[in-house]
Amino acid sequence: MDLLESRIVIVGAGQAGARAAEALRAAGHRGAVTLIGDEPHPPYERPQLSKKMLLDQQADAAFIRTTQEWSDLGVTLRTGTRVVTIDLGQRKLALSGGDDVGFDRLLIATGTRPRRLAALEGATIAVHYLRGIDDALTLRPQLVEGHRVALVGGGVIGLEVAAAALSRGCKVTIIERADHLLPQIGSPSLSRFAHDMFVKRGAAVLCKAELSDHHASGLMLADGRVVDADVIVVGIGVEPAGELAQQIGLAGVQGIRVDARGATECDNIFAAGDVAEQWSACHDRWLRLENWANAQNQAIATARAMVGLDSRYEAPSWFWSDQFDANIQVVGHPACANEIIRGDAGSARFSAISVRDGEVVGAVSVNNAKDMAMLRRLVASRKKVDPAALANPNFDLKRALA
Ligand SMILES: Cc1cc2nc3c(=O)[nH]c(=O)nc-3n(C[C@H](O)[C@H](O)[C@H](O)COP(=O)(O)OP(=O)(O)OC[C@H]3O[C@@H](n4cnc5c(N)ncnc54)[C@H](O)[C@@H]3O)c2cc1C
Repeated sequence: MDLLESRIVIVGAGQAGARAAEALRAAGHRGAVTLIGDEPHPPYERPQLSKKMLLDQQADAAFIRTTQEWSDLGVTLRTGTRVVTIDLGQRKLALSGGDDVGFDRLLIATGTRPRRLAALEGATIAVHYLRGIDDALTLRPQLVEGHRVALVGGGVIGLEVAAAALSRGCKVTIIERADHLLPQIGSPSLSRFAHDMFVKRGAAVLCKAELSDHHASGLMLADGRVVDADVIVVGIGVEPAGELAQQIGLAGVQGIRVDARGATECDNIFAAGDVAEQWSACHDRWLRLENWANAQNQAIATARAMVGLDSRYEAPSWFWSDQFDANIQVVGHPACANEIIRGDAGSARFSAISVRDGEVVGAVSVNNAKDMAMLRRLVASRKKVDPAALANPNFDLKRALA
């Protein structure tokens, strides 16, 4: 089979699916490309949903291309269409509308879905989850001055929504089960910074607080406290949308396992983005990442491999979050109690670096993109570093890479 002429189908028209479709054409692929997504919209970038779209009543979603532009690229975009089953023997997919589509090579880029809270089923107050455009458009008009907004989950998405709600004059309560905010990131300095920032902006931050039930006036916590709320937003993480992969025996506990080319154990089946779990040479373990950069770059590398190019994806995890005027960036896996601090962790500009066995394994930066650019390279390089040198804010991190 000439791979450049093959029929390629991409399931999931999110960031990964869309960037893969573009990368196929950029790599010279001439065969049919079909991009199938169950949302009613053309592909868009999600980061805007919890930032600009909540802050600005007029802001539109960040669409990757218009429907016309997809057509001009020669990509058949099928929105509002769910892939229901994969028939591996016949190499075809059954679609929700009743028809089917054949493929030579398939990319599964089905992403994740928000984890839901069973305790809030049946609540009389509207409970919001934030994953898609329609979620943002439903939540946005609720963030009005004076409304009491309860956030369940003090992770990245919860805090971005909290920042937008506070900026729009809402009264905000953040409920977090761990004893600090942003527990998944693993940086004590960043958690303290976020806590101080939200308290200063007027939020009530309740850590070690377990949700128990909904209540006529809001939420009930396990210790009996009631949090009054007009709006409830839940941000407690996501789960991989792995049901198609399960059908063909691929999905593991964490996601769909792929090699460095994005190939699964099944011939001609690839996966990329939030749903894919890949070996990380930077961190010596299998990782399923949930961030924009991974969705984009892993998908591009996988698309190139699908048409036979020598393409592998190896990069440390990196993501950003914007909360008020703080640009937070995280590389790798901080998870270290004794962080090396560059700058003043109590200020609005600092970096915190985690070193294990002489290597930088993770770092966060607050309003310090310059440090982060070097820290990303340091994590990827696995070079041995001198912790004392890193702690000196005048030490040029570039020298650690030499
Ligand atoms: C509100 C929000 C804010 C974010 N902010 C940031 C940020 O600031 N920085 C950052 O680095 N990352 C951020 N992210 C994470 C980033 O957006 C994701 O990592 C990225 O969108 C993952 O892309 P994906 O294509 O793998 O999956 P998704 O974006 O989840 O796309 C998968 C698509 O597949 C569809 N699908 C699933 N099953 C089927 C099926 N059977 N048939 C057809 N279609 C199907 C889904 O409906 C979805 O449209 C944010 C995420 C959210 C939700």
